[in-house]
Amino acid sequence: IFNFCAGPAMLPQAVMQKAQQELLNWNDQGVSVMEISHRSKEFIALTEEAESNLRQLMEIPDNYHVLFMHGGGRGQFSAVVNNFLGDNGKALYLVDGSWSQAAVEEAEKLAGKDNIDRINIVESIAGKRQVVIPELTQIDKDYRYVHYCPNETVDGIEIFDNLNSPWPVIADMSSNILSRQIDVSQFGLIYAGAQKNIGPSGLSIVIVRDDLLALPCLPQSSIMDYRLAVKNDSMYNTPPTFAWYLAAEVFSWLKSVGGVAEMEQRNIEKAKRLYACIDELDFYVSGVAAQNRSRMNVTFQLTNSELDGKFLAEAQAAGLVALKGHRMVGGMRASIYNAMPLEGVDALVTFMTEFAAKNA
Ligand code: PLP
Repeated sequence: IFNFCAGPAMLPQAVMQKAQQELLNWNDQGVSVMEISHRSKEFIALTEEAESNLRQLMEIPDNYHVLFMHGGGRGQFSAVVNNFLGDNGKALYLVDGSWSQAAVEEAEKLAGKDNIDRINIVESIAGKRQVVIPELTQIDKDYRYVHYCPNETVDGIEIFDNLNSPWPVIADMSSNILSRQIDVSQFGLIYAGAQKNIGPSGLSIVIVRDDLLALPCLPQSSIMDYRLAVKNDSMYNTPPTFAWYLAAEVFSWLKSVGGVAEMEQRNIEKAKRLYACIDELDFYVSGVAAQNRSRMNVTFQLTNSELDGKFLAEAQAAGLVALKGHRMVGGMRASIYNAMPLEGVDALVTFMTEFAAKNA
């Protein structure tokens, strides 16, 4: 089976096998990692290694904190507002798809519409959706931050260039963190729900530059307070320990296969093969301009949408599961995160080629 689910997504097989082996007896403790105190020295050692590995993998500078928090991606939609806009501060949201749209709606709800500006940055050019970002340095406003989503999971749109921004940049990297090398120093804050490239859902990773935590704020929710999370080493309340453990295993696995640079090369190759199939066969079409095609979430349509059901049923029978596009956009979506091997993409390409030949 190759699982193309957008999230919760497949995890590396080696990690799942190891987790299965040590489920009932972790680290010779005689109990599961789920059953020990988060304050035990064994668990603290796990968290320290996880943070150190993530810092190495992403080359996170020392002036950034790494937090392991609750609440997934949406939890962070609230947290950023809670932490930076509590005293009527203003923020700019760039909207390039469904998740950045959801983020701006949450910000408006919490901070009030008057404090939130938004700019839609996706245009339809020659029938393809393309990201067009206005010159942010020309905007004469005092925003606390600009928020955007570099990989829109539902829409299959990815932004590869960094923003040229006069304000701290906050990025929702839920679906492309660790998929390619980035320069963390270009960001004020990066967050990600874990359930694509990191581990189980519910956990969120936050990487935040320390000077941002000196900004004035009136956080209303303690559990969403970055300053409290820093002070308590992400253990202000009981953390999602099993998710943290699996994330730690995924980071170790990533290091063992060559780190983010190696993963990026694999992801480029996987995406290249799949988009080539879509472009070469008249049977399929991608609605996204070449420069903004996501390497993680490949969205496409069948030119004859009446065959959608047949395509999905036969794919499933061939062991290629969860290819249905998000209910808001329809069509197909193949999510090919870090854990998806090249063989999975090759199997999908073979299936798509044969399906097109049989049904043309
Ligand atoms: N942001 C992005 C880019 C996502 O893909 C998702 C979910 O898939 C979310 C936010 C929301 O994450 P969660 O369901 O963990 O709140």
